Amino acid sequence: MNTRYFIDLEEKYGARNYKPLDVVLSRGRGIWVWDVDGNRYMDCLSSYSAVNQGHCHPKIMESMVRQAEKLTLTSRAFRNDQLGPFYEELCALTNSHLVLPMNSGAEAVETAIKAVRKWGYRTKGIEEGRAEVIVCENNFHGRTITIVGFSTEQQYRNGFSPFTPGFVIVPFGDIQALKKAITKNTVAFLVEPIQGEAGVIIPPDGYMAGVREICTEHTIAMITDEIQTGLGRTGRLLAEEHDGVEADVTLIGKALSGGFYPVSAILSNADVLGVFMPGDHGSTFGGNPLACAVARAALKVLVEEGMIENSARMGDYFLDNLRSIKSSVIKEIRGRGLFIGVELHQEAGGARRFCERLMQEGLLCKETHDNVIRFAPPLVISKDDIDWALERIEPVLSRT
Ligand SMILES: *Cc1c(COP(=O)(O)O)cnc(C)c1O
Repeated sequence: MNTRYFIDLEEKYGARNYKPLDVVLSRGRGIWVWDVDGNRYMDCLSSYSAVNQGHCHPKIMESMVRQAEKLTLTSRAFRNDQLGPFYEELCALTNSHLVLPMNSGAEAVETAIKAVRKWGYRTKGIEEGRAEVIVCENNFHGRTITIVGFSTEQQYRNGFSPFTPGFVIVPFGDIQALKKAITKNTVAFLVEPIQGEAGVIIPPDGYMAGVREICTEHTIAMITDEIQTGLGRTGRLLAEEHDGVEADVTLIGKALSGGFYPVSAILSNADVLGVFMPGDHGSTFGGNPLACAVARAALKVLVEEGMIENSARMGDYFLDNLRSIKSSVIKEIRGRGLFIGVELHQEAGGARRFCERLMQEGLLCKETHDNVIRFAPPLVISKDDIDWALERIEPVLSRT
């Protein structure tokens, strides 16, 4: 069975909503993955930051297997002995008051929107049906109807209308635009601390602090979507720490399970999630004991094995060395921790072909939009591994 066989099967039966690189992976460990022909690659995407802890981390795997042998799902009709400890550990780590566990990132976003709407009606006295949530241009928050309805990416929307009303879009990084968009019906501002899918876009200094100030002043819930930036990716547990702010609602997912299983969570101060009453919201799998056991182990290894600090240190090293590459195709290099975007000039002919070349050299990267290559390896990467990567990236980017 070779690569072609598996690709043909996928193409024959699968919906065509992805255009993956033609590599068929069958095994992973740490920063490395192997394809069905036995070739080894360095994973520089980390499943969009879901495997920050590295592929198949042995301690997370052990927790998962042990819990799978005991109890996997109770639904929330009954309680389970993993949920409370998971809540306690997560709240202590993130300085939160309340948690609501879900599965995918998009569900966390949807849940937060429900929470802030109800919070707005109850605490701000907004007329039912009028709540507005402000979001940013070039946002990425997931793929449900409501979420793509407030996307500015035409392909995410075209053909999928009608959409959910109640969203206002402002430019990312622009405090004045946010101020101007606020009305008496504004309940929340939803923002990524660094826009990942848009191409690793870092807002101007002081933006997040300014957002915090405005949200407090106008009694608006500040929601940070840290599904991709959180859990060590940018060299801090949460990216908001770079700006010294605390959101009212924080969304995490992806690396919350170290890539073993979909687990997401909405974290909030007591006010916002406090509006949910029994029956208001739910999920069959959300908060199940298997998910909780996996997430507890994923958080534990992230902290105990120094992955967050390693992300900060290795991120600086990687960025500095990328910046020293002499290349006519590179327009800009930006990043924080191991969340790095290399933007190419329009004339370079798109990032995709560079990702294909890097794959031939043994590095798996993915273009975001047309012209950005994202480098976001698992946070367990070492200096030697980065040197190995640079030896391959440098000729691909400079020999054109
Ligand atoms: C991946 C992602 C989501 C959606 O998560 P899914 O698990 O794919 O639904 C939401 N927001 C951000 C910032 C993401 O990167």
